[in-house]
Amino acid sequence: MLDQTPNRPDLPPEIARRRTFAIISHPDAGKTTLTEKFLLYGGAIQMAGQVRAKGEARRTRSDFMQMEKDRGISVSASAMSFDFGRFRFNLVDTPGHSDFSEDTYRTLTAVDAAVMVIDGAKGVESQTRKLFEVCRLRDLPILTFCNKMDRESRDTFDIIDEIQENLAIDVTPASWPIGVGRDFIGCYDMLNDRLELMDRADRNKVAESIQINGLDDPELARHVPDHLVEKLREEIEMARELLPTLDAQSVLEGHMTPIWFGSAINSFGVKELMDGIGAYGPEPQPQSADTRQIAPDETKVSGFVFKVQANMDPKHRDRVAFVRMASGHFKRGMKLNHVRSKKPMTVSNPVLFLASDRELAEEAWAGDIIGIPNHGQLRIGDTLTEGEALRVTGIPSFAPELLQSCRAGDPMKAKHLEKALMQFAEEGAAKVFKPAFGSGFIVGVVGALQFEVLGSRIEMEYGLPVRFEGSQFTSARWVNGPRDAVDKFTAANKQHIAHDHDGDVVYMTRLQWDIDRVERDYPDITLTATKEMM
Ligand code: GDP
Repeated sequence: MLDQTPNRPDLPPEIARRRTFAIISHPDAGKTTLTEKFLLYGGAIQMAGQVRAKGEARRTRSDFMQMEKDRGISVSASAMSFDFGRFRFNLVDTPGHSDFSEDTYRTLTAVDAAVMVIDGAKGVESQTRKLFEVCRLRDLPILTFCNKMDRESRDTFDIIDEIQENLAIDVTPASWPIGVGRDFIGCYDMLNDRLELMDRADRNKVAESIQINGLDDPELARHVPDHLVEKLREEIEMARELLPTLDAQSVLEGHMTPIWFGSAINSFGVKELMDGIGAYGPEPQPQSADTRQIAPDETKVSGFVFKVQANMDPKHRDRVAFVRMASGHFKRGMKLNHVRSKKPMTVSNPVLFLASDRELAEEAWAGDIIGIPNHGQLRIGDTLTEGEALRVTGIPSFAPELLQSCRAGDPMKAKHLEKALMQFAEEGAAKVFKPAFGSGFIVGVVGALQFEVLGSRIEMEYGLPVRFEGSQFTSARWVNGPRDAVDKFTAANKQHIAHDHDGDVVYMTRLQWDIDRVERDYPDITLTATKEMM
């Protein structure tokens, strides 16, 4: 058994036992299946398959939208909490499609680690790499799960080499697969010298663990067929010689990833991975803020909004702000300082996202994700504290890469459209710009699919059919500089100026040449492609 004592005895036990993480993967690698098995072992659901089945029955849980179901992609991130052994896991779901990278990026600011799922036959794929790079920006610890080992898969050394070379991270095997494809019988647990054998007959059965005494133990030959024993011994000997051994500090710093091999659909290797999350997870980490770092064990409560989801429940037109608790012990009914507006806010109906349902959160600790229903006061990047004017940093807003103008199908509904668009802008689902000249709106997104999602959501949630059309602009940049310089610049470039939903000035163009010219002609002005949310 893995050590069950807290990794950090100096932290309050409730904080030390929390593990807040996301799963990153290329579509189809098995994220949904793995999530399901996590929930199953977390006791959150009784039967695998329920995540999907329930999703079909109603529009809640991690997939909210018809489109997600139709396309089989997960558009919005949500959080799920469940217990595993002495640990409390907070799993934050990330959208898998590359079009939603901004949302994904923000989600990853709310976690302390990521589980990277790769398909054993495909190895590192394009989206794996992109998401990995985002994790690297924050030096997030990464645990790797190589899935679908029950099918024909690549050579184990090949897979490890590919990860090391492609992602420039040290890989250490936590387990080693025995046999390939139809011959795959299970894994040798390299951390605990155990055999884990897969039960092909029962997909929901947790693998049988057989304690053995090293590779020379005769027990090994009793469970592993002859033709696989020799190969296993050879491979493990080679692995131990050639590959680095597990170094917890290096994992914590994001320089090394332990890899587990398994088959999510057969429930195989999942428990070992969960044990690994407990052991190397890590516990809630300090959060950067503008005047100082926030330590999780500070007694005062603080947290920040990393996501806003509107209209989660079609019956209640509320918005839920997802808040990552950064420090302290929150209790329902607490009055917190909303730092941006400097106004107090009584948090009387926070929700916890237990896998089966939303539930009132009576309390929450650093590391937890709670949802705060509100009418628009809470925006992405906002910080809540018990008084101090701290502002959590590092939650960016990216310049959209695609712009289209947006009109209501019915011109009389322009005001309604504005309201809907502003709401989506605040939710972070798109950038909305109001040009200084002319009517209508320009909507900016990071990926083309977002237009479709937006269109269908405006129609579904506001009953407003809309049209997106090509815009004369292709780029948007935020304009920064001293007030008078910005005013002068704005007056001289009216045709190119718009305001975002916060009222900030944006320069729009279709030519890189224009951007270069501004930088040359207006030395006091800087144009930026990101804006820190606040
Ligand atoms: P996601 O797109 O990453 O969420 O992937 P899913 O969890 O939806 O899985 C994609 C497909 O792979 C589904 O058809 C799963 O049934 C299948 N799958 C998931 N895990 C395994 C596994 O361990 N072995 C095999 N053979 N198929 C799997």
